[in-house]
Amino acid sequence: MDIAAAVQAAAVMLAALGVDTSGAHARRTAERMVDSYTELLTPAAAPFEATDFDNAGKHHGFVIVRDVPFGAVCAHHLLPFVGTATVGYLPGARLLGLSKLARLVERTARGLQVQEDVTQQVADTLGQVVPDHGGIGVIIDAEHLCMTLRGVKARGAATVTTAWRGGLEHDATLRAEFLGLTGRR
Ligand SMILES: [Zn+2]
Repeated sequence: MDIAAAVQAAAVMLAALGVDTSGAHARRTAERMVDSYTELLTPAAAPFEATDFDNAGKHHGFVIVRDVPFGAVCAHHLLPFVGTATVGYLPGARLLGLSKLARLVERTARGLQVQEDVTQQVADTLGQVVPDHGGIGVIIDAEHLCMTLRGVKARGAATVTTAWRGGLEHDATLRAEFLGLTGRR
């Protein structure tokens, strides 16, 4: 990562766009842009570590963490999309630490992303850490500023994406139960 080159390039871009950066608030905007993008675009350093526990009580029902807030930067426009993710699974022999489901969403959202991929990647990573699951469901519901603030300016429009794995992929009854538990039908 070359921070100095990035700051210089940001300043050149703002100037080329005719943006006046001479005022008190904008004088250091190029630096702050680079600061922000460094934070938002740096992927998680280490692979996902899942704390898990023996499913001693033989819990066979769904484990769902609902409405985890998250934000990401859209790969097409470099503008944020912000919303919530709901992640759940039917456990096998191991139970995942609940906060790990939220952590999984946060780390998957880093870097340049599109919502469809975040949804699939969360489901796939969860599938790898609980390989004997009975089913996995992921629902992401987000507002894309590239669509609501600019372009079509569809204020308040929400984009919903889903990923189903295992039992949830093929069993409509199981999927209906999952959707019911997450407040959807
Ligand atoms: Zn976009």
